[in-house]
Amino acid sequence: MNPKIYLSQPHVSGNEVDFIKKALDSNWLAPIGPSLDEFEKELQLFLLQFPNNKFKTPSLLALNSGTSAIHLGLRMLGVSKGDVVICQTFTFIASANPIVYLGAEPVFVDSESETWNMCPDKLEEAIIHLKSIDKKPKAIVTVHSYGMPYNVNRIHEIANKYNIKVLEDSAEAIGSRYDNISCGMFGDYSVFSFNGNKIITTSSGGALVTKTLAHKEKAVFFATQSRDEAPHYQHSEIGYNYRMSNICAGIGRGQMEILDAHVGLRRDMHAFYVKLFQAIPEVTVFTAPNDVYVPNYWLSAITIDPKIINGITRETLRLALEVENIESRPLWKPMHLQPIFAKYPYYGSDVAETLFENGLCLPSGSNLTDKDRKRIAIAVKAVFK
Ligand SMILES: *Cc1c(COP(=O)(O)O)cnc(C)c1O
Repeated sequence: MNPKIYLSQPHVSGNEVDFIKKALDSNWLAPIGPSLDEFEKELQLFLLQFPNNKFKTPSLLALNSGTSAIHLGLRMLGVSKGDVVICQTFTFIASANPIVYLGAEPVFVDSESETWNMCPDKLEEAIIHLKSIDKKPKAIVTVHSYGMPYNVNRIHEIANKYNIKVLEDSAEAIGSRYDNISCGMFGDYSVFSFNGNKIITTSSGGALVTKTLAHKEKAVFFATQSRDEAPHYQHSEIGYNYRMSNICAGIGRGQMEILDAHVGLRRDMHAFYVKLFQAIPEVTVFTAPNDVYVPNYWLSAITIDPKIINGITRETLRLALEVENIESRPLWKPMHLQPIFAKYPYYGSDVAETLFENGLCLPSGSNLTDKDRKRIAIAVKAVFK
């Protein structure tokens, strides 16, 4: 049997070991240390590399996961028991779980077909209705799904109009940009993930982007058990143990060296699929709607129109790939269809549901080889012959 081709795998630069060794040699094994500071600085510079970014300085804190970053970001926004928080339905569950951790109520909003992300019209409809029943949302969780930026201008225009804060879930969107501004710069708080399947990884990890240094300092306080200034352990607020370790930050520094290159390789995988499916009109490769959107193409995804092809569905393709030991996965099952979230309100129609029914993510890793691409091409062509 051929070796397995994965959807998205960790891909090291080779220099991670040196950074880990440095941390071990200097005895910085704690969730504090020089690598942590350096990793945060490198991330900050990365966010500021595009021309439209000049106007503001983000502060970052590295954390032990993207999920904890979302939890902390919502806590910073003051989300608490009984609040309503709007969340994009078409996402990974980690966008929504922290809303519930805080005792708040998630309300889910459908996607638009252009970006597969939150539909601005449905968002406004939800806000107007929630306000009318005296449940004005405390915050909005937006997502750049698969690294495709959402409609930043319209979504934030609406959030501003109704004076609602935004938590930007940029977990999948490091290296993506919208209107020449890095994703991760749009929310009142923004989040990255460095989980093993993301574009860069610290094995497990995440980061919270804040707009001011003071916000960063407050978030660090919460992330390190909310310790008051005192020689003994004293606490007047609930805190968490969410900081990234100096060892993991060392892995992150090694990964920063290849971030641009690996985003380039993900985009090459997308270009490969565009070419592969050119001759198969029933299949649409998910692609940026125009030049304002510059995705990192973390995962390449397709939809198959069931009306055109007799009998071939995304399951036909997924199972055929599986036989060839090639991993693929249906698009997100929307949150409002998840058993655990079924009881919460939903605003929208069937855009996200249809994506789930007809869509598939394909192998997208930066470490895929020409040989891998050949195997994928042969398997795909056999299905659509
Ligand atoms: C991966 C991911 C997260 C969670 O990040 P972890 O580091 O795995 O905790 C959150 N939101 C989205 C959209 C993700 O893809």
